[in-house]
Amino acid sequence: MDLNLIKPKVKNESDKYSWNLYKYLLKHKNTKVYYSKINSFTDDEHTYDKSSLVKMDTLIGVESEDGLIGARLIDILRKIPSMDFWYGNVKNNHVEITEDFFNDYIEIGRCLFDQSHDGLLRNADNRFTYINEDERKCNWCGIEQHKEIEEEIKHVTHWI
Ligand SMILES: [Zn+2]
Repeated sequence: MDLNLIKPKVKNESDKYSWNLYKYLLKHKNTKVYYSKINSFTDDEHTYDKSSLVKMDTLIGVESEDGLIGARLIDILRKIPSMDFWYGNVKNNHVEITEDFFNDYIEIGRCLFDQSHDGLLRNADNRFTYINEDERKCNWCGIEQHKEIEEEIKHVTHWI
């Protein structure tokens, strides 16, 4: 993969693409991406789906003879790991998703990690273009969203 496709414009700053992931991939050539067959939140089986990627269940690294030397995506995004781990069993309990993962990442950038567009991403100030007060469009993946306001009723007990 051509890393220039996912290189953030400003050094040390994420934009549509993550700086930490870019740096990690610069240091590790020919990386593979593996996705756990079991969802670690629910314990159910799951397969890769770009609309619901579980960062904790995604491993990125370099293949070794009988495993993978790398790190969890969730850790790479937070901070570039200073060392890698060896995942010996990776081929039994994971599925390789390298091509799908990078194709989706090139297309929608960090929205792959926050498809609800509700999460907190760093350096996301320019993520949205506001069409008007109630509508916005994501500059990274193109999704259009409208605002819905829900009334919340709160009960407070006072002893007076
Ligand atoms: Zn988006």
